[in-house]
Amino acid sequence: MLNRLKALFAKIPVLRSMKVYIFLVMLVIGIVPSYITRVGILQSYEERAVSLRLTDTQTQFKIIANHLLNNNYLRDTSSEAINAELEQMSNLYDGRVLIINSNFRIVKDTYGISEGKTIISEEVIRCFKGEEVSNYDRKSGYIEMTIPITETIYQTGQASDSQKEDGPAPVQGVMLASVSTDNIEATLEILNRKALIVEIVISIFIFGISMAFSTLLIHPFNKVTRAINEVKDGFQEEPISVKDYLETEHIVDAFNQLLSRMKVIDDSRQEFVSNVSHELKTPLTSMKVLADSLMQQEGAPVELYQEFMQDIGEEIERENKIISDLLSLVKLDKTAAQLDITAVDMNGLLELVLKRLRPIARQRDVEMVFESIRPVTAEVDEVKVTQIFTNLVENAIKYNKEHGWVKVLLDADHQFFTVEISDSGIGIPQEDYDHIFERFYRVDKSHSRQIGGTGLGLSITRGAILLHRGSVKVSSVEGEGSCFTVKIPLIHVKQ
Ligand code: ADP
Repeated sequence: MLNRLKALFAKIPVLRSMKVYIFLVMLVIGIVPSYITRVGILQSYEERAVSLRLTDTQTQFKIIANHLLNNNYLRDTSSEAINAELEQMSNLYDGRVLIINSNFRIVKDTYGISEGKTIISEEVIRCFKGEEVSNYDRKSGYIEMTIPITETIYQTGQASDSQKEDGPAPVQGVMLASVSTDNIEATLEILNRKALIVEIVISIFIFGISMAFSTLLIHPFNKVTRAINEVKDGFQEEPISVKDYLETEHIVDAFNQLLSRMKVIDDSRQEFVSNVSHELKTPLTSMKVLADSLMQQEGAPVELYQEFMQDIGEEIERENKIISDLLSLVKLDKTAAQLDITAVDMNGLLELVLKRLRPIARQRDVEMVFESIRPVTAEVDEVKVTQIFTNLVENAIKYNKEHGWVKVLLDADHQFFTVEISDSGIGIPQEDYDHIFERFYRVDKSHSRQIGGTGLGLSITRGAILLHRGSVKVSSVEGEGSCFTVKIPLIHVKQ
């Protein structure tokens, strides 16, 4: 049932509107009680009126029944006074009265049709047993009742001594009367019409109020939509504010946060683009300067040409390195979900990384030590992890001192493996800890450039570590050395 209702609501777009919901709910809450009140009041009026009519007429018929007994009417119906009384009653209530004697014979019918006939009906039989029966027939607009004609009850309301001993006096006859309730129905009709008019007026009033309220209540949400559209269309750049409800404030807050995040992303993209252009332009500018100065010197010696060409070659190599680093960075973003995970022997991998970097270390007279607490096999992307440790160890060599050392320590627990790369190098100032992982950030620009750095290495490294759901920490003492600690889960869990 609920699902069918939901499907219906989904099909008719108007029914999904919050404004329509509020309108309908207010309408129902307003109109249903007025309908219930009208029907309830009319019903209880009818019940009360019918029961009053019943007790009223019963009392009067009981008095007449008493007169009947006193005048021995069941045997002789000639008493004019009683006949007049009966006639008057049936005229008054637009009804009919039948008097039935103990032989079930009708001795008197105010309509004069059934006199002398025998009547054996359930009500009459029950009445002869002393039971008063009354029945309201709503459809035909009549109350039917039977009144037992017995000696005691109607006289003074007190039982005689003999009856107290022998039980109730026998029923000598039955009065079967029906009285019309037409005037009750007519009053009901008038009341109903008046109440209906009041109800319609109330309904129109509630309709108007619901309409106004639902529009008013929804207004702040329309304001939010308008404000967001203005931002979307570019008319508004400042954070928006709709403080009418706590809810709209929450929506607007969330939107403003999203806006500022998008601004940060946009700023960083712009910064990245300008950094990239700057970095790519630097080697080109150097090459142009070198080429121009050669061109200006007529008849320059071959040695000078060779020297300048060597410098130009170095600049080309730098340009090449920046471009390949940029490509790695872009690839890292693009292939976020595409890790080629295999079980890799980390001891073997680190030994290979050190072996490849040994020539550079030797060049700078840096000693390299590898220490492993235990053999470690981890589920990682071999190419990316090789890149991580190559970058870190290469940095440790590059930013070292003469006769320095680099130490690589591998360890693992049951969840993670850790690689500590420490060096005896120049160190990193504490305020730069967070920045060194940013693209193109270099603590000492000229020094980094001099030794062929691009400022992208650590950014690529951190990206690859995060892809493995790992972490990297740095600690350093300026002038004494640095230590990078990488922690990566042994088992790869897909995202
Ligand atoms: P680069 O290509 O310049 O080396 P990285 O992103 O690899 O770029 O490193 C960023 C900066 O962090 C470097 O320029 C350097 O100043 C600093 N840095 C990185 N590793 C070390 C280290 N082991 N010792 C001292 N400084 C380091």
